[in-house]
Amino acid sequence: MRLKFYPYTLELKHTFTVSSNSRSTTPVILTEIEHEGYIGYGEASMPPYLGESHESVMKFLSMIDLTKYNNPFELETIINDVDKIAPNNNAAKTSIDIALHDLVGKLLNQAWFNIWGLAKEAAPFTSFTIGIDKPDIVKEKVKEAEGFKYLKVKLGKENDKEMIKIIRDESDVPIVVDVNQGWKDKNIALDMIYWLKEKNILFVEQPMPKNQIDDMAWLTEKSPLPTIADEAVQRLGDILKAKDVYSGINIKLMKCTGMREAHKMITLARALNMKVMLGCMTETSCGISAAAQLSPLVDWADLDGALLIKNDLFDGTKIINGKISISELPGIGVVKKNLK
Ligand code: MG
Repeated sequence: MRLKFYPYTLELKHTFTVSSNSRSTTPVILTEIEHEGYIGYGEASMPPYLGESHESVMKFLSMIDLTKYNNPFELETIINDVDKIAPNNNAAKTSIDIALHDLVGKLLNQAWFNIWGLAKEAAPFTSFTIGIDKPDIVKEKVKEAEGFKYLKVKLGKENDKEMIKIIRDESDVPIVVDVNQGWKDKNIALDMIYWLKEKNILFVEQPMPKNQIDDMAWLTEKSPLPTIADEAVQRLGDILKAKDVYSGINIKLMKCTGMREAHKMITLARALNMKVMLGCMTETSCGISAAAQLSPLVDWADLDGALLIKNDLFDGTKIINGKISISELPGIGVVKKNLK
C-alpha cells in the first residue's frame, strides 16, 4: 500500500465563534492510500484549539510506512501500529483510519454501514450549528437552517439567554446547546439548565470545564436534561471515567482516531447505558461521510461540518430535509470532485 497526503484549507461560510475562540478557516490534510489500483480517501481536520496543524500532521504521516503491509484487511494491526508511533496526533491517525476503511470497503464493493450490518434508514437527523454571534447574524443563520429538525447552539458567553431568546423569536424547533466548558459554577449551571428546559432544549453538551469532575457529576445527577461529554472524552479509554459524570458522550472521528475506535466506543457506551452523539469538526464530505456510516447507531448527530464550508472537495453523504442520507457508494461513500 502507498500513502499520499497534502494540505488544504477549508473556508468557512461564516466566522465561527465558540466560548474560547473565533475563526474563518480550518486547516485539513487529505490522505490517499493506494492498493492494486484502488484509492481510499481520508482526512484530518485540525481546529487550532486541539493542537494539531498542517505541519504536525504531515510530520506524523511522514513516519508511517504502509509499503510494509500487503493486506489492507488487517485494519486492526495497521491501525494499532499507527497509534503506537507517537501519542496524541489523533486527527493525523484518523486520516489513515478513514482512508483504510474507504479502501477496504472499495475492495469489498460495500459501504461500511452494510459491512457493519446497519440499516441506512436508521440514520438520525442532524442538528445545524449556530455559533455565538451578533443578533442579526444569528437570525440569518436560523433562516439558513430551515428544514433542519433541530439546531445546535453554542453557549458559554455572557449572552446565553439572549442567544436562545433571539432564536426562539425566529423558530420553535428543538435546540441542543453546547457550552464548550463555559460555565464554571455548578449552581449557576443548574439554574441555566432548568431555564433551558422550558425552552425546548434536548440536552446540554460539555456544560462545565472537563477537570471539574465532582461538580459535573453533581450537575448530571440533578439536571433535568441529559448532559453530554465532548472535551472530557476523546478516546475509548476515557469512557469509563465519564460514566456517572455525564449522561452520554459526543464521539468525533478526529478526536478518537477514526471509524474503528468510534465503533468500539459506541459499543462500550451502550453497554454502560450511556447516550451517544456523533459530532464532527469543520470537515469536507470525506470526514463527514465516514462518520455517517456509524450514524444509525447513535441517538443524536451533529454532522453539519461540510455544510459550513465553501470549498468541499468531495461528494458523498448528504443531508436531506435535516436527515442524514448515507451514500451507498462503497467504502465511506465519496467521490472526489476536482483538483490535485
Ligand atoms: Mg462540543
